[in-house]
Amino acid sequence: MNFEAVIGLEVHVQLKTRSKLFCGCSAEFGAAPNTRVCPVCLGYPGVMPVLNEEAVCLTVLTGLMVGARIGETSRFDRKSYFYPDMPKNYQISQYDQPLCVGGSVEIEVGGRPKAIGLTRIHLEEDVGKNMHFHDSSGVDFNRAGVPLMEIVTQPDLASPEEALAFLLTLRQMVRYVGASECNLEQGNLRCDVNVSARPAGRAALGTKIEIKNINTFKGVVNALKHEIARQEEALLAGGVIAQETRRWDPDAGVTAGMRGKEDAHDYRYFPEPDLMPVALSRKRIEALRARLPELPRARRARLSKEYGLPDYDSGVLAADKAVADFFEAAARLSPNPKAVSNWMMTDMLRRLSKQEMDIAAAAITPRALADLIAMVDAGVVNMPTAKEIFGVLFENGGDPNTLTRERGLTQV
Ligand code: ADP
Ligand code: MG
Ligand code: ZN
Repeated sequence: MNFEAVIGLEVHVQLKTRSKLFCGCSAEFGAAPNTRVCPVCLGYPGVMPVLNEEAVCLTVLTGLMVGARIGETSRFDRKSYFYPDMPKNYQISQYDQPLCVGGSVEIEVGGRPKAIGLTRIHLEEDVGKNMHFHDSSGVDFNRAGVPLMEIVTQPDLASPEEALAFLLTLRQMVRYVGASECNLEQGNLRCDVNVSARPAGRAALGTKIEIKNINTFKGVVNALKHEIARQEEALLAGGVIAQETRRWDPDAGVTAGMRGKEDAHDYRYFPEPDLMPVALSRKRIEALRARLPELPRARRARLSKEYGLPDYDSGVLAADKAVADFFEAAARLSPNPKAVSNWMMTDMLRRLSKQEMDIAAAAITPRALADLIAMVDAGVVNMPTAKEIFGVLFENGGDPNTLTRERGLTQV
């Protein structure tokens, strides 16, 4: 018997705000434990949360980007559970009135486009971090109260490859819109993976297993591969899959049972009494829509058309908004956009990735790159010299004409 996999993702993205979701504490990563805390995010009795407006804006922007419906009234709820990293014993989340409903993300696997439906996007607070030492444990609450946007997909993904393509596309879009850095090492993007297997062609869904909190793309792919194989094997042997929550162990390469799955009623959701509903006027939503940037797919097509680039070049350049911005700024100053693209795709991106830095941190300006290309095209410098000058511009900035003269590098 052949089986097919059905996958749905719940992606948690840490929003790029300066402060936490309900208090003024810094949301910055990497501070000494328990130095970014206050009575609100430590859950002291009697404190009052105040909603971070920017977190709402970034979530709505993301929703608009994926074509979601933005609820004019949205509400926060308490999700109750006990765990040591959760100071209040409830998490402020959104239950039945999330900020965004519906929408979709288009992915491409094996050259074929496919739309992955979204159920919802809501806003919630992160929890603290348990730390285990030699003979004791501690909790760092710096992360407690940091804003998370949870993006829930429909069970539309059919393979680990599609799940990976979805995450990569989503990350690119979220970065474009400026909602998050999606920095995996800092835990900015974490994912709960839901997966079931069913006999190929059958309409009814199988029982799903949820694997919690995977924070690498490789982890998502490997956990899915392992879990799909495990379920198929069990079904082939005539067994049944019991609904449960499992944990991915990257070292052992297996998923292991954690607990039986809880239902919504186990969480005793009820409206958060200390926060007003969020009312977004049409005018406000349209003002946010006006902030939306051109998305990667559209930009790729435009780069090809406007600058006559091969599709491959456009795809590489459009993958990162800041890189595409730099390219366009230089290409507008140069009669030779293809040369700009060549420099960007080779020397620029190689240096950036080698030094693990963003293009914003490079000292070279679009003007300097355009001038350098003009000098090569005019035969003032040869290619090896131009490469050398590029290196200086990249590290220290400056102007290629002056540099060439100062160093006596002009071609005779
Ligand atoms: P729960 O209430 O258990 O969290 P939801 O219906 O909210 O379940 O779905 C959570 C996630 O699981 C969604 O991403 C959804 O697409 C996915 N999902 C739901 N049913 C299945 C299934 N049978 N197989 C795989 N994924 C599923
Ligand atoms: Mg769930
Ligand atoms: Zn605080």
